[in-house]
Order: sequence, then structure tokens, then C-alpha cells
Amino acid sequence: MQRGDPFASRGAEERDDGRGAEKRFEVKKRYAVEAGSMGYIWRSGCPRHKSLEGRFVPWNNPPLVDGVPVHAGERADCTCRTEIVH
Ligand SMILES: [Zn+2]
Repeated sequence: MQRGDPFASRGAEERDDGRGAEKRFEVKKRYAVEAGSMGYIWRSGCPRHKSLEGRFVPWNNPPLVDGVPVHAGERADCTCRTEIVH
């Protein structure tokens, strides 16, 4: 398999730089906002975010976890899910 495919250099989403989860989240958020969604219900999947289970989260105002704003499933090590609210 050859690297350096000229068609593989279109954009950042083509490369795996360890931020895949964040990018997938951005895409999901964009589609949801375009569809008129105000936010989502946090469905906890990992122990670290257990306290956020069932909480409504506006797309533009994520909760702080350890002082850092974070969305459900945004990080690679987070298995939480979003239940999109319209
Ligand atoms: Zn989580």
C-alpha cells in the first residue's frame, strides 16, 4: 500500500491525528444544530461522567468536567452518548 496518495491530502478529516472523536462530535453537533436542536440529554457511559447522566446540555454551553468544558463522547476515552433534543 502506497502512502502519498494525491487524493488523500484534501483535509484534516482524512488524517488520523488522534482527534477523531472530537471531529465526529463536531459533525454530529453541526447536523443537530442545523436541524434546529437546542441541545441533548447526556447519557452516561463512562464512570467519570456518571454525575452528568440525564442532564440537558445546550450545544453552546457544555458542562465543566475538571474545569474543562466537555461534551458527551467528545473525547476518545469517553463512551457517553448524546440523546439529541429537538
Ligand atoms: Zn463520558
